[in-house]
Amino acid sequence: MTVCDTWLLSSFAFKWTVLIETIVQVFVFSLIAFGWYLCTFHIGGNLYIVSTNLLISSVAGLYLYLCLGRRSHNVALYPLPEKILLTEPYQCATKTGDLVVCNKGDCNGKWKPPRTHHCSTCGVCRLDFDHHCPWLGNCVTLSKLKAFICLLCLLPVTFLVAIFPICRILITHALLALKTSHQNTWANEVWWDWWGSWVVCAVGMLLGYILMKVDCQGDLTPQYGHLVEEPHLRVLATAGITLLLSIFSVVRAVLPNERIYDLGLFQNWQIFLKKPLLSALLQGPC
Ligand SMILES: [Zn+2]
Ligand SMILES: [Zn+2]
Repeated sequence: MTVCDTWLLSSFAFKWTVLIETIVQVFVFSLIAFGWYLCTFHIGGNLYIVSTNLLISSVAGLYLYLCLGRRSHNVALYPLPEKILLTEPYQCATKTGDLVVCNKGDCNGKWKPPRTHHCSTCGVCRLDFDHHCPWLGNCVTLSKLKAFICLLCLLPVTFLVAIFPICRILITHALLALKTSHQNTWANEVWWDWWGSWVVCAVGMLLGYILMKVDCQGDLTPQYGHLVEEPHLRVLATAGITLLLSIFSVVRAVLPNERIYDLGLFQNWQIFLKKPLLSALLQGPC
């Protein structure tokens, strides 16, 4: 494979990654917007509306903040240091003593200071790189880590507060959908007769929702009824996906992952706590 072929392949993969991550961002924002709509207009209580609006707007704000600046190059914001101050363990100078530069992606020979990693997904170098998050379509760097952890913690809390008043009714609808699906001949033929159907019972539940919608046409028409009181698949799907994302957030926040610039627990926490919550807004893109 020639250098040109490799470049074309990586360019193609880069464009697809950008497209997929943009779709993920739109999906997450749609989920947040629909959740806000449900909480504000379909589930009552002034205190509930105020608290969910505060929580959801915080989640949306943090998510937007973390998504921004994908193409920015934060390294240029930092002045070139004296070569003598650049020391190991991080590679910062070549064997000849010149400063390390990056020629990958959009960097075009820009300075690559210590603790900088080139993110091939974003196509730029990131100072204090932690990891690239496909859900954000952006890198998580040290300056954004506090906002990232806040988002991971806030999402499950928001989900629990938002779902609390409608939890019982959603479970009732889900069980009703399962029952309807299980009692239907067609649903049994296409799904339940399969030995592993209960392992992926969400598909059976989906069929139940379709059947309830068909059965009630011209009668109760639940598809146009109250979004919470009547069984609506999009409400259950929103709750289900948010539940999965909340579980993922908790696991992501609790489980340690490999950090390429690990300084040890104590020093990591020291540096982390010194960073402001929204440092990129105060200091420029990171
Ligand atoms: Zn770079
Ligand atoms: Zn990245």
